[in-house]
This record gives sequence, C-alpha cells and structure tokens, in this order.
Amino acid sequence: MTSDDLAFDRDHIWHPYTSMSEPLPCYPVVGARGVHLQLADGRELVDGMSSWWAAIHGYNHPRLNQALQQQMTQMSHVMFGGITHPAAVALCRRLVDMTPAPLECVFLADSGSVAVEVAMKMALQYWQARGERRQRFLTLRRGYHGDTFSAMSVCDPDNSMHSLWQGYLPTHLFAPAPQCGFDDCWDEQDIAEFAAQIATHAGSIAAVILEPIVQGAGGMRFYHPDYLQQVRALCDRYQVLLIADEIATGFGRTGKLFACDHAGIAPDILCLGKALTGGTMTLSATLTTREVANTISNGAAGCFMHGPTFMGNPLACAVADASLALLQEGDWQTQVATIEQQLRTALLPLTAHPQVADARVLGAIGVIESRQPVNMAAIQRFFVEHGVWIRPFGKLIYLMPPYVITSQQLSQLTEAIKAALDHAELFLPG
Ligand SMILES: *Cc1c(COP(=O)(O)O)cnc(C)c1O
Repeated sequence: MTSDDLAFDRDHIWHPYTSMSEPLPCYPVVGARGVHLQLADGRELVDGMSSWWAAIHGYNHPRLNQALQQQMTQMSHVMFGGITHPAAVALCRRLVDMTPAPLECVFLADSGSVAVEVAMKMALQYWQARGERRQRFLTLRRGYHGDTFSAMSVCDPDNSMHSLWQGYLPTHLFAPAPQCGFDDCWDEQDIAEFAAQIATHAGSIAAVILEPIVQGAGGMRFYHPDYLQQVRALCDRYQVLLIADEIATGFGRTGKLFACDHAGIAPDILCLGKALTGGTMTLSATLTTREVANTISNGAAGCFMHGPTFMGNPLACAVADASLALLQEGDWQTQVATIEQQLRTALLPLTAHPQVADARVLGAIGVIESRQPVNMAAIQRFFVEHGVWIRPFGKLIYLMPPYVITSQQLSQLTEAIKAALDHAELFLPG
C-alpha cells in the first residue's frame, strides 16, 4: 500500500466509530497467517483480538480456505427464497446438533446486529400471534447487542448514547448491570431489581435479552452463573421469552461451548455470529424452539416477516460448517483452558499496579481495566512497536487471542500490556 492509498483511506473511508474529519491512524495490513497480521512494511504482529472475537482458528487456515474454494467452484451465491443448498443444510444440521436441545429452528442472516433484529422480531411476532400486546424488552445495563436501531435500543443507554436518539428509539426496561462477578460468592441481592422489574411489567414484556455471563463491548464484565440461572427461572415463572445473545461468547470463548452452559440453561432464542465462520466471512444465525417457530407461523402474518437478500450465502455457510467441524474435532477445551491459566498468571497480579483498577480473566478472555482511559493513538502505536495487535477502548485493555496461540506468543501480548502500564503518556488524565 502506498502513502497515496493511506491518504485516500483517511479522506474517504469510514472505519468503525471514527471521525471523518479527525480520523485516528490506520495500520495497513496486507496479509494474515496463523496468529500474525502482516503490515505493509513487512512487520508481523501477534494478534490479541481475533478480529473482534471471530478468528478463533487463526488466519488463512487451510481447512477454511479449502471449504471456500470448494464451494466457490459449485456456486458462491444463490437466493434462498424457494431454493435450498447443501451448504446451508449441513451448517444448520450442525448448529441444531451443537446448541441446547430445545433450539431446533435456524434463521440465517448477514451479521450479528441483524441476528439480534431477527430475535427481537421473533419475540414480537410470537406474542402478536398469541393475541397479546407485548412490545417491550427487559435487558441489563452495560449490555451490547449491535448497532442497528432495535439492537441499539437494548444496548447500555449511556455507552450507546441513547440521548442522541431520544424520541426515535423505543424505550425498553433496563435492570442494573449484575455486580456479582463470575468467581464471587453469589449474593441473592444481585438479582433483586431484575426480579422486581420482571414482576411489575411481565404482561408487557415480549422477551428478556442479554449477553449470558460476559458483557462484552459494554464493559468486558463477567457475571455470576447463578444470575443467569435465576433469569431463566424468572422468565419461566412470568412466561417471558429469553433471548441469549451469544454472538461474542459462542463457540468456546468462555471455556464452555456456549456461555449459557455455565448456568446449565437454554434460551428460547439464541443469537450466534462472530466466530461462526472462524472469522472468514460475515454470517449470523438465530435459533429458536419449535414452539416459538410454530406460534409465529400460525399467527396472522402466516410466516416470519424477514428475508435478507444474501440469506444463507453458500460461501459463508460452507466455511462456517468447516469452522465448526474444526472446532468439534479439535481440542478447544484444552486450548482455552491453557490460555485461561496463562492469562490468570500473567494478568491477575497486575491488580497491584497503580495504573490498574481491575484485572479479570474468563476462558480465553483477559481484561485489564485501567484507572484512566487510554490515549488510543499513542497506545496503539506503542503496541505495534512491541510487535502486537491489541486494540483497547476507554479504560479497557483486553485480549481474546485465537485459540491456536502458543504460550510464547501469548507472553508477548501480556508483556506488551505490562510494559504499557508503566508509560503514563499512554493514558489520558482523569
Ligand atoms: C458484535 C456483537 C453484536 C453485533 O454483531 P455485528 O456482526 O457487529 O453486527 C451483537 N451482540 C454482541 C454480544 C456482540 O458482541
């Protein structure tokens, strides 16, 4: 990439959550292999992000490449209306097998946010079909569910600036974020406010929507499995649907195949995305029970009212099926447990560092919460100079490496974080 390319990028191309007038620097990446990102100048960075939870097997994996190439010679895409194809059937069969038993019906869509839109629409159509007017969702503060409007309406109201959309965004119900950490002693009080809200508003709530166990982009918080277990029990008691957004947590990241497994519960609707294709293509799936699917289908509309153009894209389905096969055949439990152990040893002692407010680890996720927000441009440069790709936000410096990372590569990531904490100029005042 030439400096001209970079100038064009700066002048014309939006990146996630950036300003067009004062963009932060972007690093040109020209290749990715295993756990390395290759910069245009030839430098190789150890990837600590898995491209936002997605690239669990590392980059340029031969099995995934082969699945794409094989599918490409058959067909890259064909419409899904009135047509089906082997790649979609194989993938959905595997998803139904892998996920908790009650989840039998699969809706394929293009991205995580759309999977959430689909889940919320399913819940609304379900109650409409039952002749009940239930149009509100109950969720948790500090949650994140995507950037489209319905998804945004159930994101943390402060983080996602609901004030910007006042009068436009539907107003839903927010329970306080769980305070009891994953490893803490369970405190019954933690669920009290949630229980009170669901009891008061049950008749108008279509569904509870939450990220099970790990609240990701809203703060990288790990909460207690008993909380989730009680949410399930309360949803049953008050006859409210439960939507589990496992777009970030699905496929082993937290140490269990699904985060819901930590609490031994199954949702009524499950959203999957991110790691679904091993980080190669965009694809999401929303699964639900036969009861929800049938109720929707027997309602006034006679069908579920959603159908994206690229629904069930064969290339994406084929590579997703290969990625899940790789996961099922491989030893992800050991890989994730080994990463977890090393992250605990390297990161948890950093709580003693004056710059650190908290350190926490769950599965292949390690988080350092600093006392001051990071200086994004400066800390990014620092990490690149140390040969690693780590992208913090706010006060959160976190790692979620590909499962195939070696212990030495993981040390490079944790050592870079340790080094950064000693540089006051990488943090903003206050
Ligand atoms: C990333 C994410 C989404 C949104 O997925 P996109 O593919 O970015 O639209 C939704 N929910 C959770 C929990 C996520 O982590």
